[in-house]
Amino acid sequence: MDQDHLFGDSPAGAQAPTDSSELVQRLAQLREQLQHHAHLYYTLDAPQIPDAEYDRLFKQLQALEEAHPELRTADSPTQRVLGKVLDGFAAVRHAMPMLSIRTETDTEASGALAFDARVRRELGLSETDPAIEYAAELKFDGLAINLRYEHGVLACAATRGDGEVGEDVTQNIRTIGQIPLRLHGAEPVVLEVRGEVYMRRDDFESLNERQRERGDKTFVNPRNAAAGAVRQLDPAIAAQRPLSFFAYGLGEVRGWDVPATHSALLDALQRMGLPVCAERTVAQGAEGPTGLVAFHRAMGARRDQLPFDIDGVVYKVNSRELQQRLGFVTREPRWAVAHKYPAQEQLTQVESIDIQVGRTGKLTPVARLKRVFVGGVTVTNATLHNLFEMRRKRVRVGDTVIVRRAGDVIPEVVGVVPVEGSAARTPYVPNFHMPRQCPVCASAVVREPGEVNHRCTGGLFCAAQRKQALLHFAQRRAVEVEGLGEKLVDQLVDGALVRTLPELYKLGVAKLAALDRMADKSAQNIVAALEKSKHTTLPRFLYGLGIRHVGEATAKDLARHFGQIDRIMDATEEQLLAVNDVGPIVAKSIRTFFDQPHNREVVEQLRSVGITWVEHEPVQVAQSSLPQAGKTFVLTGTLPSLSREEAKAMIEAAGGKVVGSVSKKTHYVVAGDEAGSKLDKARELGVSVIDEDELRALLHAEPRSDHGGA
Ligand SMILES: [Zn+2]
Repeated sequence: MDQDHLFGDSPAGAQAPTDSSELVQRLAQLREQLQHHAHLYYTLDAPQIPDAEYDRLFKQLQALEEAHPELRTADSPTQRVLGKVLDGFAAVRHAMPMLSIRTETDTEASGALAFDARVRRELGLSETDPAIEYAAELKFDGLAINLRYEHGVLACAATRGDGEVGEDVTQNIRTIGQIPLRLHGAEPVVLEVRGEVYMRRDDFESLNERQRERGDKTFVNPRNAAAGAVRQLDPAIAAQRPLSFFAYGLGEVRGWDVPATHSALLDALQRMGLPVCAERTVAQGAEGPTGLVAFHRAMGARRDQLPFDIDGVVYKVNSRELQQRLGFVTREPRWAVAHKYPAQEQLTQVESIDIQVGRTGKLTPVARLKRVFVGGVTVTNATLHNLFEMRRKRVRVGDTVIVRRAGDVIPEVVGVVPVEGSAARTPYVPNFHMPRQCPVCASAVVREPGEVNHRCTGGLFCAAQRKQALLHFAQRRAVEVEGLGEKLVDQLVDGALVRTLPELYKLGVAKLAALDRMADKSAQNIVAALEKSKHTTLPRFLYGLGIRHVGEATAKDLARHFGQIDRIMDATEEQLLAVNDVGPIVAKSIRTFFDQPHNREVVEQLRSVGITWVEHEPVQVAQSSLPQAGKTFVLTGTLPSLSREEAKAMIEAAGGKVVGSVSKKTHYVVAGDEAGSKLDKARELGVSVIDEDELRALLHAEPRSDHGGA
C-alpha cells in the first residue's frame, strides 16, 4: 500500500445510504476500518486485507464525504496521510516534502490517453500541436526512501513517513550494498535522491523458504518483507534480508545543476553510481509505437518475467520547464501519474482443500478457490505449502483469504481475512486434515520428526512419483539403463506404456520404435541396455529402489550386513539399527517402504523378469583385507596439516569410512582445533578420540595378518 493510492480520484463504489443516521454510522464504520488496517499495515507490518480492498474502502469514504462535506471530520483518514514514526527511530523532517503522485486505476489504454489529454489541456495545446515527450518508467512495489548526500557522502536515509516527517533508517540502508555511500565523480553541497527499496522476487522466495523450513512466520509479499527489513530496529537482522534499490527522483538540491529533462536526470544519477532501472523509455505522446500506451502494454506483458514486483508504470512529462509550468494540484504534481496494472493480491473464498502429490512424494495442501482475477490472470487454485503453515495462517475451508500471484510463482494463500465483528483470537478449529493415505496411490503417508512436509511412501508404485522413480532406478549409480533419459521416460509414462518398474523390462523393440523420434537402431539399443541392466549388484539394486534416506553408502552397508534382499525386506527396525550408520529415521523409512505390499510386489516382479544381482561389488572382497575395513571415522575441527578431503581420502584408502555424525557405532573421532559438539558427543558415548598423529599411525598400520595383506 504505497501512499499514492490515498489520492485516488475516481469516486467509485459510493452508494449513499438515504437515511442520515445510517450514513453517519456508515462513515464512522469506514473510518474505523481504514484506521485499523492502516495501523496493521504501517505500524505492525501485518496487513490483513489486500491493497485493492483498502483502496476500495478508502474511495467509498472519500466519495461519501464529497457528497456530504458537512459530515467530514478532522480525524478522517482522508484528511491526512497515515504512517506512524516507530518508537526507536529518530524522526526526520524532510527538507522537501515527499509527495505522492496521482494513481490512475483504469488499467486499460484509456488510462494513458486520459493523462495525455489532461496535460495537453493544462498546457493549452491544440490537436495540431506536436506530441508531448514523456519519461516512462516502472512503478516499483517497495518502500519509498530519501537518501541525503552531503558533499557526495551519504548523510541520512529516511522513510517517507507522513510525507513531512519520516524515520531515520540510515543504519539499515547502509547495509544495502547497491546504495553508494559516496557518489561517484560528484560532490554537490546537498543532493537528495529519492527511490524505492525493494526485495527481488527470488530473494523473497528464498527468504520465505528459510522461514518455512524453520517453522517461522513467512512474509506476505516482497514489499512487506522489504518494509519490515528497512524498519528493523536491529541492523544485523536488516543486513540478512536481501534488499535492492532503484533511484527515480530528487528532493532537496544545492550546488548541482539539475538536468533539463527527467530522462537526463536518471542518466546522471546512474553515472553517480546509483542503481536506475533499465526498463525505461522516452515516449512521444500517448498513442503510436513510441507512445505511453505501447509502453504500458509492453511492460504489462513482461511483468511476470521481471525479477521484482511492479504494480504499474509511471509517466512523467520529460521537460523540467514544462513540469514547472504544470505545477501541482493540492499535493500532487500535474505532470506525473502512476498507471496501474491489475492487483497481484485479491480476496476470494476457499471452496475446498485438496492434496497434490509431487514428483518427490511431497504432499502439498492446495486451496480450491472461487475463481478470482489476480495479477492479470484467473486463478482457481493456490498453494498452502504445508500443514503447519496452513495452521499458522489459520486457514479453513469456507474462509475468505488473500491470494497472491506474482511472476511465474505458483499462486499462494498469504492470509485469512477475519470475519467482521468476530474477536481477533477466536479459537482456530481446523476443518481439514492430512490424509493418512496418498490420494494418488493409497500408500501410507508419513511425516518424519523435525520435518514440516508429509510424504507418500509409495515410491515406485505412486503414479505421481513414477517418472522420478524410473529415472532414479535407471541412473548410472543405480542399475544403469543407458539411454533411458527424461524425454523417453516422459513418453513412456505419459503414453501409459510403463506403469510399474517391471513393465520397463517388457517393452519390446516394436513398442519402442513406435515412439516419436525413435529410430529402430535406438530402440534396439534401449532393449540391449535393459538386458544389460539385469545383471547388477545388490547395493545398486537397493539404491535404485529409491527408498527415502537410503543413499549409495547406506545401500552398501545394508548389502554387506544382510547379504540378501529378502533379509532386508523382513528385517525389524531393531535389526536394521544394528547396521553401521543406520539410525532410527533410516530404519523406520526402510521398514515403512517394505511394509507396503506393492513395494514387495515390485521387487518380486523385477526378479521374475530376470533381474539378478551379486551381493557385493567385486572390490568389496579386496577391501575387507585393508587395515581399517569396516571402521567408521568422524572428522571434527581443523587438523594441523591435513585438509578434511585429504584425511577422508587417506581413511578411505585404508578401507575405512568417514561419516557425518557420532554414534555408538563410530570407531574413532578424529579431533583437531576448535572441535565442537561432535567431540562432546564422542566423550559422552565413550568413543575413542584421536588426533592427526594418531590417525596417521593408525592408517599406516600393517594389514591384518589373517587376511594375508592387501
Ligand atoms: Zn502416492
